[in-house]
Amino acid sequence: MGLMDGKNALIFGVANNKSLAWGITQALHEAGANIGLSYAIPQLEKRVFPLAESIGCTFVERADANNDDELDAVFAKAKEHFGRLDVLVHAIAYATREDLSGQYIDTSREGFKIALETSAYSLVALAKRAAPLMTNGGSILTLTYYGAEKVMPRYNVMAVAKAALECSVRYLAYELGPQNIRVNAISAGPVKTLAASGIAGFRTMLKFSEEAAPLRRLITQEDVGNTALWLASDLGSAITGETIYVDAGYNILGLTMTEEQRAQFNLE
Ligand code: NAP
Repeated sequence: MGLMDGKNALIFGVANNKSLAWGITQALHEAGANIGLSYAIPQLEKRVFPLAESIGCTFVERADANNDDELDAVFAKAKEHFGRLDVLVHAIAYATREDLSGQYIDTSREGFKIALETSAYSLVALAKRAAPLMTNGGSILTLTYYGAEKVMPRYNVMAVAKAALECSVRYLAYELGPQNIRVNAISAGPVKTLAASGIAGFRTMLKFSEEAAPLRRLITQEDVGNTALWLASDLGSAITGETIYVDAGYNILGLTMTEEQRAQFNLE
């Protein structure tokens, strides 16, 4: 018996085999869940279709998370295909490259709107459509980053979008709780993915995180997948409205140091 036998999971945000959503997909699939995938743009088909095929997933639908008609169409098809949904995974974020490289003070009105709409409002848009299909309760998951709470150079408008996303998680958890629908965010440490490569200085961020984190390592797609499985399954049955850190402990630090700095100050 798998933890997710007989459960239906609809997952948004698989762009390629490096996506955090793909780590989650694999963990849920291996635990027995029926998987549906939704991707953003036609150019992704050559990557997403073979991944779907590799796990025997036959529900693969394109939808721009900023387009209400396209979302309505995907959820109508999901209702037809699955009948009931148990899990919704939201792994979607976007900000323009300029807004992830300059200074936050220079964020344009349009850049702010794009980042907040795509990275935060999209969770609300998906949850509104998923909840009526979660007739037996359910679990909604999203992905966030510590930049929502503490300043991370260059994360800029995406940090503000993640703060809105984390707050949305709490409001959605409050409203959907009576239907036994849980809503949680996984705050993942940095992982080299397509979206992450848009952040200026990301490689430096990776190196620093690895050296500074209590576990002295970077996190992996599997780490995120395993936590998602816990939150999606009955093992997480009383957890809602939370932001759960999968960051090798980075968020507990008050003083962050590289290996070299620790050696210099004799703090190893
Ligand atoms: P990824 O593989 O590039 O995934 C991002 C996904 O968002 C892509 O599938 C992308 O599709 C999709 N997306 C963007 N705009 C969309 C739209 N309008 N409609 C539908 N989908 C759209 O990168 P990832 O790192 O796994 O990101 C997944 C989530 O994890 C994001 O919320 C990200 O902020 C979060 N996260 C990542 C890290 C990290 O270090 N990688 C750390 C913490 C949190 P397109 O490629 O077609 O745009």
